[in-house]
Amino acid sequence: MSTPDTSHLESVPASAWSADDSAALYGITDWGNNFFSVSDAGEVTVRLRDGKKRSEVPIASIIDGLRDRGTDFPVLLRFRDLLHDRISELNQSFRTAIADSNYQGDYRGVYPIKVNQQRQVIEEITAFGKRFHYGLEAGSKPELIAALAHMHDEEAYLICNGYKDEEFIDLALTARKMGLQVIIVLEMPSELNLVIERAEKLGIRPLLGVRARLATKSEGKWQESAGDKSVFGLSASQIIETVDQLKESGYIDCLTLLHYHQGSQIPNIRAIREAATEATRMYIDLVKEGAPMGILDTGGGLAVDYDGSHTDFPASCNYTISEYCADLVEVIGQTCTAENIEHPTIISESGRAVVAYYSVLVFNILDVTKFQLDDTPPTPPATMSPTLKNLIDVAENISTDSLQENFNDATYYRDQIREMHVHGRVSLRERGYAEHLFWNIVTKITRRLSELEFVPEELAELRSQTHDYYYGNFSLFQSLPDSWAIDQLFPIMPIHRLAEKPTQQAVLADITCDCDGKIDRFVDRRDVAHTLPLHPIQPDDTGYCIGVFLVGAYQETLGDLHNLLGDTNVVGVHLENGKPVYSHEVEGDTVADVLSYVEYEPKVLVEKFRSFAENAVNSGKITPRERKEVMKSYRHGLDGYTYFESDI
Ligand SMILES: *Cc1c(COP(=O)(O)O)cnc(C)c1O
Repeated sequence: MSTPDTSHLESVPASAWSADDSAALYGITDWGNNFFSVSDAGEVTVRLRDGKKRSEVPIASIIDGLRDRGTDFPVLLRFRDLLHDRISELNQSFRTAIADSNYQGDYRGVYPIKVNQQRQVIEEITAFGKRFHYGLEAGSKPELIAALAHMHDEEAYLICNGYKDEEFIDLALTARKMGLQVIIVLEMPSELNLVIERAEKLGIRPLLGVRARLATKSEGKWQESAGDKSVFGLSASQIIETVDQLKESGYIDCLTLLHYHQGSQIPNIRAIREAATEATRMYIDLVKEGAPMGILDTGGGLAVDYDGSHTDFPASCNYTISEYCADLVEVIGQTCTAENIEHPTIISESGRAVVAYYSVLVFNILDVTKFQLDDTPPTPPATMSPTLKNLIDVAENISTDSLQENFNDATYYRDQIREMHVHGRVSLRERGYAEHLFWNIVTKITRRLSELEFVPEELAELRSQTHDYYYGNFSLFQSLPDSWAIDQLFPIMPIHRLAEKPTQQAVLADITCDCDGKIDRFVDRRDVAHTLPLHPIQPDDTGYCIGVFLVGAYQETLGDLHNLLGDTNVVGVHLENGKPVYSHEVEGDTVADVLSYVEYEPKVLVEKFRSFAENAVNSGKITPRERKEVMKSYRHGLDGYTYFESDI
């Protein structure tokens, strides 16, 4: 991997620790894309537009401003400047690639709405994207309906993918008549008849595309959406049948676009080149078949380097945006030139790469469960079985030369004692003592690992078991669904205290109490880390803040109401005259909101609880005054945020 090794940081004494060491430890220079960095004061900063220049703004100060205004954690920050910068970067990179290789066609990007459908996002993209004639991709009727309200640029494209009913097709056709370049992409053989029928009926000539199912395999988690087994797209023979049908019905002059989609987050540039080569071949043949064509739509797949390793690891990619653009332009250009075919307009449907950087989730730590790193054995029980004595013997004779053996023995005796307890032969007190002692032994062993030249794998793993749990005020299921569902990695780090050495190894748990509601996979210079270095916090301190970065793509609407924890607060942030301006504030769900999503009627809930309270008064369990108080709390609870609220 190209990222620097940071193992030497472990030995940096706390007194010599600097913010730069934190930056290296968390790899922010590698994944931050110059948008995020660490200040000398030890705070994560975000680079925002400040008039004509850029300023590095501490995220902690943005959060302070929000808390002063009463916005609670968790909060999702959206930075429109980062979205604008990514749209610019993508379009400029294609322009540069086109100029550099003397390509004769254009580039027109479209943003696939499904990647983040929030209104604010579509508004930002259509408004800012206008200078590039940046369009939209709709994969369903609701997305088309949203797109038609926001995108009215006649030089941009509106690509319609997905399953289409009559209403979807009618809307697309009519919008075409109204002047928009709406292209209906045929994804299934059965769609063509319906499209022709509606076009005849409305008397509108459509712009048509076909989605090809490529044979090229791509790597990455989402590869199933391409290849022979993909549910979408037409096979080579189906494309030919479609062409014949278009010729017979007199619609071949409407076929303007060939589309393919390799799946999202394609880490390897080679797969991207291969797919583009295969698709360009198909494009050329469609021209030769007599279709006017003109557009090659290369779909999504442009990856984000979440772990900053710049490799073909699934959370990364071994290419930059410029390389992606240069390769597509080169492959398509050269293949067409060799066949004497005019260079098509290239469309990419890049979603993830455009919106991932846009949002940052910030939550506070509510509590910590420490892994006990004490060497003092607990008070021994009055009676002791010989097995327990053996375990004590192990604890007293740990030596650097025999750590693996010591660990094996300790595990063996601990398991024996558990077994004996199940059979009623030792007491719970003895078992408790044995388990405590076992962790004392593990602690002693892990402390000595640094003395070994070679650390056996099993013992190395102990390190990651001897971690603390940091409980974060968030729901993984609501805010980071891909972390839960498909083990997606996101860069995660504290947003402050970075001039201080983080001495604890932690796993993050959310407040759902679900054993899946935790994060124990973190970006690392090598593969994946199972713990995250964090700072110690005082028992009553709930102000320690963690940022989860690059969460703008796919996370916001996939989330679910696990434990009825709802949408988080959302705030858009930009600078005016050097000061943060909070805009587009969306209050997160209240308890009443989420309850009504699952069919509870808040009024009825109050009624039912009130009659329960009244009965309690009548039977003398509470006083009328207590009824008043408990009703107040109940109502207050309904109106409040679903997350842990702190009194500020
Ligand atoms: C999901 C999807 C995209 C977006 O892919 P990214 O990898 O996020 O850029 C583009 N096109 C289609 C058809 C999709 O289904």
